Amino acid sequence: MKALITGITGQDGSYLAEFLLSRGYDVHGTVRRTSGDRLDRVDHIVHRIHLHYADLLDQLALIRLIEKVQPDEVYNLAAQAFPFSGWDQPDLTCQLNGLGIVRLLEAVRLIDPRIRIFQASSAEMFGRPEEYPQTERTPLLPTTPCGAAKLYAHLMAGGYREKYGLKICCGILFDHESPRRSLEYITRRITHAAACVKLGLQDKLTLESIDFCCDWGFAGDYVRAFWMMLQHPTSDDYIVATGQAHTLEEFCEAAFEAADLDWRDHVVVERTGGPQNDLVPFTGDACRAQRKLLWEPEVSFEEMIKMMVEADLARHSLKNRVPSDVANREQWQRSIS
Ligand code: NDP
Repeated sequence: MKALITGITGQDGSYLAEFLLSRGYDVHGTVRRTSGDRLDRVDHIVHRIHLHYADLLDQLALIRLIEKVQPDEVYNLAAQAFPFSGWDQPDLTCQLNGLGIVRLLEAVRLIDPRIRIFQASSAEMFGRPEEYPQTERTPLLPTTPCGAAKLYAHLMAGGYREKYGLKICCGILFDHESPRRSLEYITRRITHAAACVKLGLQDKLTLESIDFCCDWGFAGDYVRAFWMMLQHPTSDDYIVATGQAHTLEEFCEAAFEAADLDWRDHVVVERTGGPQNDLVPFTGDACRAQRKLLWEPEVSFEEMIKMMVEADLARHSLKNRVPSDVANREQWQRSIS
C-alpha cells in the first residue's frame, strides 16, 4: 500500500508516517520550499520515506504529485494549524486550510477517484459550543479564521463525497499533544518550562490564566484513528477525542510533578476567573469512532505529559544529539524530487 501525507513535517504527519511504515506502507510526503530546514520531526525516518516538493496553494503541483505517486491513500494534514495565527493571516489561512483540500480533491478526482482521503478537520469548527460533550451533530459555528476555513473544507469534503462518490473521511480532531508539539502552544511551553526549571535554566513561567478546560489527547493515538477511518468500508466523519476535560492548572500540576517539582512554586498566573468560566468545556464524544472503528486512546493525560517533560529534559542534554541526523539530511537532500 502507498500513502501520501501532506504536512508530513508536522506533529501528526511525523507520527502518521511512523505508524504507516510500521504497517509496511510505502510512505510519501510533501514538503514546501522554504529557505530553512524543517525536517526535525522526520529526521529519524527520512531515509525510509519519499519526500516531494508541493505546496497546498498550488493546484498544478498537486495534480502532478498525485499522478506521479499514484497513492492508495492520501492524508491531508497540511494546515496553518496554530489557531491564533489565523487572525494575522486570514487570507492565507483560508487559502490553505479551506481551499487546500479542494485542490487535492480535484487532483484525486481527475487522476484516480478510487484513492481514499483523510481530511484533518478541527474541533475549532464548533466555535463556542453550547452542548457538552460535543458530537458529530453539534452545530458548527466557528469564531476564528482557522475554524471557519476548516469548516469550509469539512463541508466541501462532504460535498465531494456525495457528488462524486469520493471515499473521504474527516476526523473532527480535538487538541492533541506530544513531545513534537511546537513551542507556540501553551502545553509545550509548560512542559518545556518544567524541564528548564528542573535543569536550573529558568525559575518562573508566567501564564495568563489556568482555569480553562480542554480535551487533550496524544497525537500518536490520533493518527491511528486517521488510518482506521480509511480502512472502514463506508466513508464517514468522526470525532477524535479522549472525552476527558482537564484544566490548564491540572496540566501544569502534572508537568511539574513529572519533573519532581511543585507547579505552585514556579507558575505565575496573571488572571484568575473571568468569562472563560462560563463556557462549556471543549470535550469530544468519540463514541462513533469507538463503536464503528473500535478506536480507543491508549496514552493517558498524565502519561502524555510525562512523555513531553522527559523529551524536553532530554533535548537539553547534549548527549542526546544523534550524529546520524546530519547524514540522514544529506541523503534526503540528494533524493528529494
Ligand atoms: P503542524 O503545525 O505540526 O503541521 C502542519 C503541517 O502543514 C506542517 O508540515 C507544515 O509544513 C504544513 N504546511 C503548512 N503550510 C503548508 C503549505 N502551504 N503547503 C504544504 N504544507 C504546508 O500541525 P499538526 O500536525 O498538529 O496538525 C495536523 C492537522 O490536524 C492540521 O490540519 C491541523 O489543523 C489539524 N488539527 C490538529 C490539532 C492538534 O491539536 N494538533 C487539533 C485539530 C486539528 P512546514 O513544516 O513547512 O511548516
